[in-house]
Amino acid sequence: MDYDANHLLHRLAGAGAPGKVFATRPGLPDVTYGELFAGAERMAATLTEAGLAPGDRVAVQVAKSLEAVQLYLGTVLAGGVFLPLNTAYTGSEVAYFVSDATPRILVCDPAREAEIAPLAPDATLLTLAPDGGGSLTDAARDHTGFRAVPREADDLAAILYTSGTTGRSKGAMLSHANLASNSETLRDVWRFTPDDVLIHALPIFHTHGLFVATNVALLAGASVHFLPGFNPDAIVAAMPSSTALMGVPTFYTRLLDHPGLTRDCVSNMRLFISGSAPLLVDTHEKWEARTGHRILERYGMTETNMNTSNPYDGDRRPGTVGLPLPGVELRILRDGQPANQGEIGVIEVRGPNVFQGYWQMPGKTAEELRPDGWFITGDQGFVDADGYVTIVGREKDMIISGGFNVYPKEVENVIDAIPGVKESAVIGVPHPDFGEGVVAVVVRGNDSLTEAEIQDALKHEIARFKQPKQTLFLPELPRNTMGKVQKKALRETYAGLFTD
Ligand code: AMP
Repeated sequence: MDYDANHLLHRLAGAGAPGKVFATRPGLPDVTYGELFAGAERMAATLTEAGLAPGDRVAVQVAKSLEAVQLYLGTVLAGGVFLPLNTAYTGSEVAYFVSDATPRILVCDPAREAEIAPLAPDATLLTLAPDGGGSLTDAARDHTGFRAVPREADDLAAILYTSGTTGRSKGAMLSHANLASNSETLRDVWRFTPDDVLIHALPIFHTHGLFVATNVALLAGASVHFLPGFNPDAIVAAMPSSTALMGVPTFYTRLLDHPGLTRDCVSNMRLFISGSAPLLVDTHEKWEARTGHRILERYGMTETNMNTSNPYDGDRRPGTVGLPLPGVELRILRDGQPANQGEIGVIEVRGPNVFQGYWQMPGKTAEELRPDGWFITGDQGFVDADGYVTIVGREKDMIISGGFNVYPKEVENVIDAIPGVKESAVIGVPHPDFGEGVVAVVVRGNDSLTEAEIQDALKHEIARFKQPKQTLFLPELPRNTMGKVQKKALRETYAGLFTD
């Protein structure tokens, strides 16, 4: 294969020997690096034949499969822009993304072809089924070989829409250099080599599973156990022949409930990584007690790839997201001024990982991406004396009660430490006297725990204005696929708590 040096594929395709196994799959044949990239070239040829020109978007809403990975690689190979969509999106949501991104090609599950086809009259529709069948792979079979379309470092390789917790979902434009540089950094800091076998159980429509897991494994020339989704039995079964797991915090809490998670089972594993949502200190501690491994927590987002990571060799501090990655600058601004050490403010990052802006939203881009390259993440946090970053929540989740700022994370940490509490989410909802009233939504491990006991435990721990005005109990917190607690949904549910 012949790739331009700037081309993401030049980096991704260079590492694994053609005969080496890239992926093992439950009940399916192994796939070698040679087969993976030969398939990607066939996809590239098929997309080009279907009219794809460099810079065109390929929108994809399909189940996780090796063919879907080949479609990602093939799109980039052909100079296209890969645009994956969450499989849970409804027709009307897909219609928004298609009208916004105007893809040249749209690939969907054949089971949804009739529903999706009318949504994109200007795009060529191809199908890809969960088992790898469909019109895309049928057409690809007739092709062999494809020469990569040359791309510059800043040319787009992907657009990933943000989860859109406020307002319209925005398309984050990611360049070849954004993806290549971040994946190379992660491969190096996490020490991935061809000897690694990564358990890949994350979805591939999100930055975590697509870029962190897939790109890092490819760049290292490593192998993956490619699982269709999160299944604790399958992960426990894969561990003895694996070296690393990348997961969201819920992977870890659910695995802790599995009796098969023993020191014996993890004896071949060298690294457990968590990200996409905060990992509870309790989960970190339980994991270490059970397995002897300290989970390595890192922090990133769709727009920036990964920003910080706990160290591989040094102290992995629970409750923190570690130190800025090599090449990534991080600062905390408070009322527009640099914050002092330990002071909470908004996290900004700058580096080769930071995206190119929001697709067709110059206004939004200008609001969040400064002309000198600093990206305003919207996350609030602080940096301690050793440079470790702690995230206290999203700026929009911060509560202002009676004129005082309440950082939900601080209150959640205190509640989570109360015996009998599994986890909590603290939100602000409209309050007639205070503007916003603090509400705690708590998941109990012990059903006899009462609101009064929680209030009592908080009395001497945190200032009165931070204490919840009401505590509610739920069997579990609402979460999205990536394990993020849906605070917006909680705020909507309890919006009338103090005003109705
Ligand atoms: P997404 O763009 O969907 O990947 O979401 C990115 C957001 O997830 C970040 O802006 C953070 O708010 C949150 N996030 C990611 N990793 C962590 C982490 N380790 N701890 C706390 N929040 C995180």
